[in-house]
Amino acid sequence: MSDSSPAPSWEQITDSLHHCTRCSLYKNATQVVCGEGSHHSPVIFVGEQPGDQEDLAGRPFVGPAGKVFDEVMASIGWPREEIYLTNAVKHFKFYLQGQRRIHQTPAPEEVECCRIWLRHEWRLLKPRLTVALGATAVLALTGKKQTLGALRGRIHKLKETAPFVATYHPSYILRQPNEEGRQKAYQAMQQDLTMAREFLKAAS
Ligand code: SF4
Repeated sequence: MSDSSPAPSWEQITDSLHHCTRCSLYKNATQVVCGEGSHHSPVIFVGEQPGDQEDLAGRPFVGPAGKVFDEVMASIGWPREEIYLTNAVKHFKFYLQGQRRIHQTPAPEEVECCRIWLRHEWRLLKPRLTVALGATAVLALTGKKQTLGALRGRIHKLKETAPFVATYHPSYILRQPNEEGRQKAYQAMQQDLTMAREFLKAAS
């Protein structure tokens, strides 16, 4: 993620994102969903893409998955106000099933196209740690498709950026077919985020 050109300001990023046509996803989405949170955060959380409710509200993580995320964060005493939260892809990708808009995973080319914005956010924030929520975030961060199960539970070093931790996207918890699965995924996410927080505390 290195880049020698000067990073734009937060205002310039927001403004440019509202006019971005780098890939076709802007065409069907209601609006772009920029990252939000503390610009002094030592950590950047990266999700996949806005969902149906985020697309309508214009804010990240305000739908059902966002509620799960807030719950996990609250359970380990990490206020959302202290972090910066964004998505790998800034427009909602979906297909229609009748009136319903059904989430579609962004293609690797779309993740690559949108990576420039994540790079700008990263360069401005200069976080000490990145938390990748799900496989698409890992792809955006590393440029490689990787299995989340193999990455969880450790701090990973990247050549060009600060270390990262990979954990489940909160929607993965919601997708579990039963309560046992949900509990397991929830606890795994709690463990990963606790590890991330401990790492930041030790590094401060
Ligand atoms: S998804 Fe990203 S690259 Fe594609 S149009 Fe939206 S902001 Fe631009």
